[in-house]
Amino acid sequence: MIPNILSIAGSDPSGGAGIQADIKAISANGGYAMAVIAALTAQNTRGVRGFTVVAPDMVRSQIETIRDDIRIDAIKIGMLGDAAIVRTVAEVLGTIDAPVVLDPVMVAKGGDRLLAEEAVAALRDLLVPRAAILTPNLPEAGDLLGRAPAQDIESMREQGEALLALGCKAVMMKGGHLPRGEAIDLLVTDDDTVELEAPRTNTKNTHGTGCTLSSALATALGAGFAPIEAARRAKAYIGAAIGAADTLSVGSGNGPVHH
Ligand code: PLP
Repeated sequence: MIPNILSIAGSDPSGGAGIQADIKAISANGGYAMAVIAALTAQNTRGVRGFTVVAPDMVRSQIETIRDDIRIDAIKIGMLGDAAIVRTVAEVLGTIDAPVVLDPVMVAKGGDRLLAEEAVAALRDLLVPRAAILTPNLPEAGDLLGRAPAQDIESMREQGEALLALGCKAVMMKGGHLPRGEAIDLLVTDDDTVELEAPRTNTKNTHGTGCTLSSALATALGAGFAPIEAARRAKAYIGAAIGAADTLSVGSGNGPVHH
């Protein structure tokens, strides 16, 4: 059966990240993609010029309207923008029984904030405990814990365990920001910690990698794969998408990956 995957995230009109990347990744991984837009950004490959959040009641209504008609096999959460949206999404999720992949989007690659600073605590307290898999990059993991970002595998493991203690079922710590070496991710669960390795592709075109990985992961969970197998599949998919990024010719900044 084709899994129905719901992305709740922000729009990137340049097509590289956010909802647009989610729809491409879910489709390429064999899912049926649905998308609730929580925020609009104005951006290109050079940076984010601004964003505005959708009214919380409208975000709630979009999710409830889908829920009332369509079977939802997995949910991916990306950019939510502010604390009111975080609270609204957390409330509605209480009425839906589907695994949630939570990508705690906080700052775009170019350094622009995509989540208000005062919303980080709400995300940690209300949404992290609802996540089947939390997918922070190293700066996001640090921000959620109020610590400096991990610089090596050992501190990645420690921070992954600390995030697990916040109540999610698994943490996929993404090592893309590690200073050197392979692109190593860790999948941390109550049972064990598994290292996922891949060769690092040298490209500046990595816009949308977090969105793409979390959407591929949600699609695999929705298809019924166990977290570790879903993580391996998502890692293989994002590796191929980054590997093919330079075949695109999109903008003059940090371009998107290719699905
Ligand atoms: N969501 C939206 C709407 C964005 O605009 C961005 C980055 O610009 C992200 C998420 C995070 O992007 P990435 O997948 O590159 O971490």
